Amino acid sequence: MTDVDSQALPAMTRAGPRAARPVHHRRATRGCLCTPRRRAWQDDGTCASCGQRVHEFQVLDVVRATLITDPACILYRNEIGASTHWPTGEKRKGPIRYGVADPGGADLIGLYRLPSGVGVFLAVETKTVNGRQNADQRQFQKFVEQRGGIYVICRSADDAGALLARLRAEVPR
Ligand SMILES: [Zn+2]
Repeated sequence: MTDVDSQALPAMTRAGPRAARPVHHRRATRGCLCTPRRRAWQDDGTCASCGQRVHEFQVLDVVRATLITDPACILYRNEIGASTHWPTGEKRKGPIRYGVADPGGADLIGLYRLPSGVGVFLAVETKTVNGRQNADQRQFQKFVEQRGGIYVICRSADDAGALLARLRAEVPR
């Protein structure tokens, strides 16, 4: 480490412990920590290799990784929630809400360029095997579909692959 690096370090951590936390709160149990090769996610929502539960954020990671292999697809993580503290750790007077279509917006939103060249709005909600949409999420699905957008629930990499196949074949529903 050079002198310049060691001087830079305290400045990077000065914001305090609260600022260092991730915005979204992953659950206390870490879930399946298997590598993609070892991973064996089953229909009961656990991994056969490690016996751990599979969390929704883990499904989101594999779904997103699968979908963005297609250059016609662009997706943004649509985190929905509220920020209650400033980066300094001080409490805000009121929370600041963030995320598109709060509440109910899909986990991933973006565009897909169909083979015809037309871009369609794409909303991907990721769920575990037994995860269910809530009422707000169903409403968002309705809004998207009523206006010609595509809304899909993906629970696995296979679901994401099936979605890509459908989009490449330009099958609207
Ligand atoms: Zn595992």
